[in-house]
Amino acid sequence: MTRIAPPPRGLPAWQEIPLGGIVAGPGNSHEYLTGSWRTRRPIHDPGKCTSCMICWLFCPDSAILVEEERVVGIDTGHCKGCGICARECPIEGAMVMAEGGSY
Ligand code: SF4
Ligand code: SF4
Repeated sequence: MTRIAPPPRGLPAWQEIPLGGIVAGPGNSHEYLTGSWRTRRPIHDPGKCTSCMICWLFCPDSAILVEEERVVGIDTGHCKGCGICARECPIEGAMVMAEGGSY
């Protein structure tokens, strides 16, 4: 029989640690601001953008802001800076990644 070693002195036992990674309800991801995770940031150029919506389609965080069928910017509260939008954008310079997480 395998014995579980006791936790080091001063640390809680595994039974005392709160459960994590639980999605308590549907559609609540907008309540969790994840933009501070970013180390790089997308820069959108509305002068070059054709609003083809490819970046909107690919963004895993639904962070591409759209108004009246036009891309109008980035939701900085949720964009994690993955760079997929810039990678998939077919128009040179319309969406590029820059160093630094904040705007
Ligand atoms: S993929 Fe590029 S051109 Fe298309 S909507 Fe996004 S930024 Fe604009
Ligand atoms: S960098 Fe990633 S998370 Fe941020 S807008 Fe582009 S695709 Fe979405």
